[in-house]
Amino acid sequence: MSFTDLVDSHFHLLSMKNAGIDCAGVLSDLEAGNWGGGIAVCLSDEDCAYTLPLVRGRKNIFCALGCGPWDLDRADRPSPESLVTDLERKLGTGDFAFIGEFGLDAYWQYGTPESQEKLMHLQLELSAALNRPVIIHSRDAGTRTLEILLQHPGVRGIFHCYSYTADAALKLAGRGWYISFAGNITYKKSDAVRSALCALPKECVLMETDSPYLAPVPHRGRPCDPRMVKDTYAASAALRGVDELSWRATVLENFRRLTGEPCQ
Ligand SMILES: [Zn+2]
Repeated sequence: MSFTDLVDSHFHLLSMKNAGIDCAGVLSDLEAGNWGGGIAVCLSDEDCAYTLPLVRGRKNIFCALGCGPWDLDRADRPSPESLVTDLERKLGTGDFAFIGEFGLDAYWQYGTPESQEKLMHLQLELSAALNRPVIIHSRDAGTRTLEILLQHPGVRGIFHCYSYTADAALKLAGRGWYISFAGNITYKKSDAVRSALCALPKECVLMETDSPYLAPVPHRGRPCDPRMVKDTYAASAALRGVDELSWRATVLENFRRLTGEPCQ
């Protein structure tokens, strides 16, 4: 199958494996189909131990590590400061091109609102210090997430699984952020997200699966893998009124600009 130039800016390999997906098989399929690459986002030490050996030697796969708000609810109840001290040490290995995902989650209410914000600020400061881009997670907390990001003008990166208004997306794009859209753009209730996708300049849009979650229609309800990003591309190209192959080229160019790979 052809996956030419497709990019998946956000997937979780250990969670995919736990959902019964043959991760090595999927990655080999994508490589054989000439995909553009993607970002494997690690959520824990166990995830790193699984993911790093699996992606080593594969072209155009970048890794990310950060402390999401869920880390505040770990059994040992770590403080934001101790989490970020530990993260900084792990980032020293050079395995991770991105810091993240991290951000705010008012849906699951991990930790306290204050500790979530503290953890977010500390990692934005770390990003500025290390000059490394970030990946932002935000659920039911759009206004506050935007306010905090705008307080850190030197920081750049990806706002993942974008699910807020076009207005907020345009503000972020104006500051050099990349906005990444997942399979939920194919869901019935996602009118606001589709408006955001259509309002943005093409230079700041990325595509993702968030595998194994959020499988796009017609795979909805099944464990998602990065090959399904193809359907999210098809839907978004149609929404933006561009042909699918040129949309693949646009997003790949954005991804290469962000990751520092030369654009062809
Ligand atoms: Zn994620």
